Amino acid sequence: MINVEARNKMSKTLRLILGDQLNSNHTWFQTTDDSITYVLMEIRSETDYATHHIQKIVGFFSAMRNFASELKQKKHQVVYYHLNDTNNFQSFDKNLNYLIEKENFTHFEYQLPDEYRIDELLKNFCQALPISYSVVDTEHFMSSRNELGDFFIGKKTFLMESFYQMMRKKHNILMQGDKPLTGKWNYDAENRKKLPKDHKPTPPLIFNTDVSKIVAEIENTNISTIGTIDPKNFIWPTTRNQSLELLDFFVSECLPLFGSYQDAMTPNEWSLYHSRISFSMNVKMISPLEVINRAIQEWENRPDEIAYNQLEGFVRQIIGWREYMRGIYWNKMPNYKTSNYFNHNNKLPNWFWTGKTKMNCLKDAINQSLNFAYAHHIQRLMVTGNFALLAGVHPDEVDAWYLGIYIDAIEWVEITNTRGMSQFADGGIVATKPYVSSATYIDKMSHYCGSCYYKKALKTGDKACPFNSLYWNFYDKNEDKLGKNPRIGMMYNVWNKMKPNDKAMILQQADYYLKKIEEL
Ligand SMILES: Cc1cc2nc3c(=O)[nH]c(=O)nc-3n(C[C@H](O)[C@H](O)[C@H](O)COP(=O)(O)OP(=O)(O)OC[C@H]3O[C@@H](n4cnc5c(N)ncnc54)[C@H](O)[C@@H]3O)c2cc1C
Ligand code: SF4
Repeated sequence: MINVEARNKMSKTLRLILGDQLNSNHTWFQTTDDSITYVLMEIRSETDYATHHIQKIVGFFSAMRNFASELKQKKHQVVYYHLNDTNNFQSFDKNLNYLIEKENFTHFEYQLPDEYRIDELLKNFCQALPISYSVVDTEHFMSSRNELGDFFIGKKTFLMESFYQMMRKKHNILMQGDKPLTGKWNYDAENRKKLPKDHKPTPPLIFNTDVSKIVAEIENTNISTIGTIDPKNFIWPTTRNQSLELLDFFVSECLPLFGSYQDAMTPNEWSLYHSRISFSMNVKMISPLEVINRAIQEWENRPDEIAYNQLEGFVRQIIGWREYMRGIYWNKMPNYKTSNYFNHNNKLPNWFWTGKTKMNCLKDAINQSLNFAYAHHIQRLMVTGNFALLAGVHPDEVDAWYLGIYIDAIEWVEITNTRGMSQFADGGIVATKPYVSSATYIDKMSHYCGSCYYKKALKTGDKACPFNSLYWNFYDKNEDKLGKNPRIGMMYNVWNKMKPNDKAMILQQADYYLKKIEEL
């Protein structure tokens, strides 16, 4: 028998697991130890820092509950705070302080958070702790927080392509010695095809998990959410096994056409050949290395069915773009969060929350985002993001929408994509030129324009596609900031060669549309 004094002197460790740290392969979980307790929390500080899609909150809570159950089954000690528990103080520090004091913990540990806000919060929390503490890596990413900053030290531009090539070499992925396998690094030119008109993409693998209990618990609170959910048939993976199943489905059914159609869009097809594994990866149910190894293995097994450009296109997204964005985030925060290169100040139109617009491309992208908490990259970049930038919307408004609506939205990867890549608010750290387009690009990559209320070929007049006049208006208004950019010079040549009267009419049309933005 241990007396109370001796028990209190025993070493007892409390380990915090954040909602996006569900990595069952982490060293922490490889041995069981009764002196270690894990804590996971569903708290209002996390449900309320943005207005999230209902599927996003359900996805996180569901995955966290499944992860906690697995830990318990493996005989780990786990404390789990449900959203409506009476002893839940609804914030990390309050719950942790209470637990540490009540259970006499002698040591506290956490994994490096991916979000700046939580990183600061836990650093401050630990400064005030009366017990010892330590921080460990999440063992998820393939580059460290500061690796990108170190790689580009002294450089003005942070070219993704150079970072990607460094990552391929460092991890010896698709390499032959120090040369890329096949001799070529980049297959983007082969990977930008429009979907043939009669092509029917593979239907997506979805899960039909019953999440009614969690939905009811959320509905019992005053948490604001956006979007819809079918509580009996939740479509997203919420366990590691489901995530692996989705990955298997992707490599067997979608990888053969992934690269070809990664930029394509078509009405009522919300996932095409995309993997939809961003949520699984961002909460760390699966790791980037196992994802690309699985894709490479499939390509090796089916060389006649999976062309190399499909595989390279996929690998570059994961060890290129994803790791690159994380590096930018840690190199540029916290200033990145307030960047607004064009001093944009407009509001996001209300129809971003309802999908009620006559613009076909936007209607489809927004409605599927509300229905599935998902849109693929080109919809995010060249439809919703493109419109917000052309309409001069304040990057805070744009960020809030993207951070809320997507199941995979966590600040480190949301803000770098939204503020950086899509809104050019960082002045050109992530993108070498703003991603803007008129109807021409959207029509080239999609089947939206043919059946749209607006006419893709018109710049002015009642039915002129709004993207057309807003596009030229954007260049006109920002000539002082963009005129010298060598990648844009050609567009200014075209603009400056237009007749003054035509230019004036286009600017007038843009002005009219901006004033009537809620009615578009
Ligand atoms: C405005 C905007 C906002 C975005 N917000 C997010 C976000 O909040 N969370 C998020 O995970 N991604 C975000 N992205 C990047 C990208 O659109 C999504 O990762 C992708 O659509 C997720 O779907 P998928 O898993 O089917 O991707 P796939 O097309 O199948 O690509 C495979 C994987 O590559 C990675 N990837 C691809 N492109 C990027 C990129 N640009 N940055 C980082 N990783 C990338 C993702 O992990 C993705 O799962 C955003 C892009 C834009 C333009
Ligand atoms: S015409 Fe314009 S608004 Fe309509 S679908 Fe095409 S790009 Fe979108």
